[in-house]
Amino acid sequence: MFETKIIEATDDGMKEAQNEAVACLRRGELVALPTETVYGLAADAFNAEAVAKIFAAKERPEFDPLIVHIASYTDLKTVAEVPEDIADTVKKLANEFWPGPLTIILPKTPAVPDLVTSGLPTVAVRQSGHPIFRGINQALGRPIAAPSANRFGRISPTSASAVMKELGGRIPLIVDAGACGEGVESTIIRIEPREGKKPLFYLHRAGPITKEQLQPFGRVEKVKPGEKLQSPGQLDSHYAPLTPFRLLKSPEDFVPEEGKSYGLLSYKGEEGGEYVRMYDWDSVVSLSPGSGKLAEAATRLFFAMREMDEMGFDEIIAEPVSETGLGVAIMDRLRRASAR
Ligand code: AMP
Ligand code: MG
Repeated sequence: MFETKIIEATDDGMKEAQNEAVACLRRGELVALPTETVYGLAADAFNAEAVAKIFAAKERPEFDPLIVHIASYTDLKTVAEVPEDIADTVKKLANEFWPGPLTIILPKTPAVPDLVTSGLPTVAVRQSGHPIFRGINQALGRPIAAPSANRFGRISPTSASAVMKELGGRIPLIVDAGACGEGVESTIIRIEPREGKKPLFYLHRAGPITKEQLQPFGRVEKVKPGEKLQSPGQLDSHYAPLTPFRLLKSPEDFVPEEGKSYGLLSYKGEEGGEYVRMYDWDSVVSLSPGSGKLAEAATRLFFAMREMDEMGFDEIIAEPVSETGLGVAIMDRLRRASAR
């Protein structure tokens, strides 16, 4: 058991937060850190004993590999051996999207402990764009393994208080830098080269970098059915509130049961129309009140799911968003939350 400390990485406390976090990581301890996607549970990626603590704290099965974060593009070679036939593509993607929420699956170097990759010959790697995370990654001078800072299968945390609820007492330190900007986990791709054509990008997880943004660099494809095993983290049921949660396909899908309480997770809320009006909901929580902006909805998604989970409904009903751009990642998370 730990007494979990929260340090605020505000202007004054920035240096102190960084120093404490780096000292913790050097000692082989875990620290929860803000990233631009969700809060991550960080360990020195080259320290297998420290990495083992991530699996223990999260109760994460060891067959679910972690993402490794590098401080700069030049550090990529310490964790990945980039094949020559995709080197150019990796460089272009890094140029365009790093630091940022794009994770690339590449062959790993022997320096990456097997525990990090769950024994896979590949490592998932990205460079975080969050200034606090980057500063700590740089100061540590080693890659950081960091999955989302929640217990396995639960909703990813987008604030320090959400991390506290998930992992309080299990880790020594949380660095608080306020709410995460993106709100959903990074996009994950594997690159397959093609002779004389643009490469294929197999989409292992939809995220903030959209298909439309990737398209100029390669052709985005669904993961081959046989390859799904390589990504056991992509389990059908994930990001699940404790309250039963159901994503509707259309308004007709909803048939209320007598005496049950229902909350609606709405896209636009009051002005959104049919889903709000079709039933006398116990409460309506909106992802992007009024305007319906997918970026705002993504940022608020996990926060809203946590909020509704604490409201004590018999069931949370979610309305769908349009599956374009960021909507693909949002619908992916809603589907997983509603799968049991
Ligand atoms: P999290 O860090 O909690 O967002 O989860 C990381 C996810 O990245 C895992 O659940 C996998 O889906 C994916 N991942 C990590 N490493 C690999 C890999 N080597 N191959 C395929 N997918 C991976
Ligand atoms: Mg996760």
